[in-house]
Amino acid sequence: MYIDSHCHLCYPGLRERLPDVLAAMQAAEVGRAINICTTLEEFDDVQAVAAAHPQLWCTVGVHPDQEDVREPSVDELVTLAARPRVVAIGETGLDYYRIGSRSHAEMAWQRERFAVHIRAARATGLPLVVHTRSASEDTLAILRDEGQGQVGGVFHCFTETQAVADAALALGFHISFSGILTFRNAAELREVARRVPLERCLIETDSPYLAPVPYRGKTNEPAYVPHVATALAELQGRTPAAVAEATRRNAERLFGLPQDADAC
Ligand SMILES: [Zn+2]
Ligand SMILES: [Zn+2]
Repeated sequence: MYIDSHCHLCYPGLRERLPDVLAAMQAAEVGRAINICTTLEEFDDVQAVAAAHPQLWCTVGVHPDQEDVREPSVDELVTLAARPRVVAIGETGLDYYRIGSRSHAEMAWQRERFAVHIRAARATGLPLVVHTRSASEDTLAILRDEGQGQVGGVFHCFTETQAVADAALALGFHISFSGILTFRNAAELREVARRVPLERCLIETDSPYLAPVPYRGKTNEPAYVPHVATALAELQGRTPAAVAEATRRNAERLFGLPQDADAC
């Protein structure tokens, strides 16, 4: 049984055909998935979808790419995190990829938002789902400053260097790999994936984005996460079944899911 540790089931492309997406997931032996929140505006729907399906859980948080949205407070995140099926804070973090002509100082709002999420994660004891792109130094510095190493979480859809992976692991974080592992131009990332200890690896689709080969360019969905497991298995010289089993256990432990695979 596989767990897709990060997908956006409430995004267009998946939300309007959710019953089919869940059926395909079951047929592909993807027994569980975490439905990831990216704005407070969508949280009610994200949480309701998780609450309506025993194989789904969810998060609460505001993505760094979301600019014209409601800004969360620590108290609000803590309150929303108490709702049923919420197992993590995020996704949150820093993304300077779309910084455009803006200066580092002009991105202070992202750093403040990230710090708010870390404080909520510490207050609730929940793991943090971290998104970081072109901002790894600041991401690690803020995690250290805010003491998130004491709680942990996951660097999702990992695309950074070995040094960043080592720093994240040293902080107690997990590393989650996506379909990018299967992309032809991802040789450097594959070298990183070879070396991350399996007991700290998760797998995800980040669907509807980033469909793995052979679905590249199509709408991604949780049913495709076994392709990520197969890619990671080849890199680490293991069987796909061993990777499925280990990443399932890792996700269960990190997100506090019930351990019994049969009792979703
Ligand atoms: Zn992300
Ligand atoms: Zn995401």
